[in-house]
Amino acid sequence: MSDQKIVFLGTGGTIAGKAANAFEHSRYTAAQVGVHELLASLPGWQDGSERYVVEQVAQLDSKDMGFDVWVKLAQRVAHFLAQEDVQGIVITHGTDTLEETAYFLQALLAPIKPVVLTCAMRPSNAVVPDGPQNLLDALAVAASTGSSGVTVVCAGAIYGAEDVQKIHPYRLNAFSAGDAGPIGFVEQGRLRLQRDWQRGRVASLVSELADAAWPRVEIVMSYAGADGTIVRALLKAGVKGLVVAATGNGTVHQDLEAALVLAIQQGVKVVRATRCAEGQLLPGTHDVLPAATGLTPVKARIALMLDLMQAAQTGR
Ligand code: ASP
Repeated sequence: MSDQKIVFLGTGGTIAGKAANAFEHSRYTAAQVGVHELLASLPGWQDGSERYVVEQVAQLDSKDMGFDVWVKLAQRVAHFLAQEDVQGIVITHGTDTLEETAYFLQALLAPIKPVVLTCAMRPSNAVVPDGPQNLLDALAVAASTGSSGVTVVCAGAIYGAEDVQKIHPYRLNAFSAGDAGPIGFVEQGRLRLQRDWQRGRVASLVSELADAAWPRVEIVMSYAGADGTIVRALLKAGVKGLVVAATGNGTVHQDLEAALVLAIQQGVKVVRATRCAEGQLLPGTHDVLPAATGLTPVKARIALMLDLMQAAQTGR
């Protein structure tokens, strides 16, 4: 374990939530307690220790996550990653859009140092809250020499940003990395790794991000009776990119597909991702639309937004 600095960035979520009573786990308000206070409640936490830097970047229920908070968070993460005496970063975040923020930061920054997002499924004043243990586990990952990239730590497991998905609305172990499996586990503060840390794949845009216009990229789903009406409405609204959450191995209802082909003809970027919970798209016999291999629809949307922003900036 390194003795360099660890940075904690708070953004809200259930980990910072409060319920009216300690036995209430589903009716509560997220983002009520500051990250300083959450850390102060950890056993052995020494307030004012020079080893820790603590900053409240936002305070929101992550269902309401938006581009403004993403930009601010990416800028603070990039700022601290560039400090030589910083070993790693822990971000507290709501579980609802955790996988999106994790993927966004990984795609944008592809950090060598660890950036560890953590969360809780129970509010901070629950009779047995899960947030404190998750925070300690995230700290163990961020402080471990050799840990790298954007990860999510929840219920003792470490997931890669590209693979992680929230799969359960209530249980403490709410995340999965599907076929990829977790990168490893945190056990009594020690890491037991199953595979290598994740590496980056998209070039950094962070310096330009504040001024960049976020392109409108929407997700449409293919299902029985999907007829493309939504696509035609989105074209009228000036959409720049569309992700289709396709059935099975990337198949799309013929009427929806016809509308998406029309969108491409009008200059809109379209990609397919599967709406299946696990697995990756393989080439099929009748593929008409390009595939976003290995990404869920919400992550394919982020990748497409970043691609469009990069294209706008480089004039490509
Ligand atoms: N709605 C909450 C949030 O995403 C849920 C949670 O954190 O578990 O902020």
